[in-house]
Amino acid sequence: MTIKNSPAEMADESRPVALTINGLAVSAQEGMTVVEAAWHGGVPRLTGVGCMEGVCGSCRIMLRRGDIVSVGLACQTFVENGAEVIFLPPASAPRHHYELSDFKDGWDIHARFQDIFPEAARCRHCHGCNVSCPKGISVEEGVMQASAGRFRDAGEIFFECVMCELCDGACPELIAPAHVGLFSRRVTAHFHLRPPNLIHRLEELRQDKLDKSVSYIDDGDD
Ligand code: SF4
Ligand code: SF4
Repeated sequence: MTIKNSPAEMADESRPVALTINGLAVSAQEGMTVVEAAWHGGVPRLTGVGCMEGVCGSCRIMLRRGDIVSVGLACQTFVENGAEVIFLPPASAPRHHYELSDFKDGWDIHARFQDIFPEAARCRHCHGCNVSCPKGISVEEGVMQASAGRFRDAGEIFFECVMCELCDGACPELIAPAHVGLFSRRVTAHFHLRPPNLIHRLEELRQDKLDKSVSYIDDGDD
């Protein structure tokens, strides 16, 4: 028996799927992702493909199936008959500029946030950001928490964010939710203590007290 490892290999014996990618007709196989179909179909791709595991957020696409238009990541989206796919260009340069070293202290964060992201207060709760997020993040809730000055909570909500910025493109108020999330994660890390076990291990290392016979890698057995 032949063992098939990749989705493309597993797709070999599946049904054919016809779609268009960047305006080119592509014949793919059921089970392929859009990136695999693009390669299989000879669609030239120089940018917009990275990790292939939904982590780098580079392969942003817009997808139309019948009357339904959505966005997603090409490496996590499977081909469908009749779909029209467009690879989106890289997100534009961020409009919000700040240096954390300029912040006086933690008391300064909320006022700075309101200066840097004045649009965040205008969220109209349209859910566009939630619908566009390929990671299923409650983006709108994260923006609300940040607007209320709860940056640790906002940072946790955006923990899985891959900065694809699809939510930014969906926001009618130009709030740039992805950057609200990034700001929240940055200030949380900058102004709060690191995890206590990490601090403890680093101190053991500094004092050369780390027991090198013990594996500190979680093997997932417990
Ligand atoms: S929150 Fe925005 S930038 Fe982050 S993964 Fe979701 S859509 Fe992408
Ligand atoms: S897309 Fe923009 S306006 Fe709509 S809910 Fe999200 S942050 Fe608010």
